[in-house]
Amino acid sequence: MLIRTGDTVEVVAGADRGVRSRVILVDRAAGKAVVEGVARVYKHIRRSQKYPQGGRLSKEMPVQLSNLQYFCPSCGHAARLGARFLPDGSKERYCKKCGAAAGQMAPAKTAHAKK
Ligand SMILES: [Zn+2]
Repeated sequence: MLIRTGDTVEVVAGADRGVRSRVILVDRAAGKAVVEGVARVYKHIRRSQKYPQGGRLSKEMPVQLSNLQYFCPSCGHAARLGARFLPDGSKERYCKKCGAAAGQMAPAKTAHAKK
């Protein structure tokens, strides 16, 4: 699972299919992510100290990660992510469509470095 907070993802299934937005939170244990503007619901709020008026609060619910795909800014497509080692032994994510790097995942480690 290579999707991380802050990534731009495209929703590939469900009611919000086709929406492109930013990941706010990833719940790895549940395999879900909260994406800005995706799977919005109205939560009805009872009158309280914090909400003296009560009312309706619009918020996003978590969606299954399998319904999301990483959106690659360099090739402009939704694509799968891969992981690879760089010659210095650090690990990075990359777009499987165009090969562009998508950020480092692990610091350089001599065991993975190329001789
Ligand atoms: Zn790409």
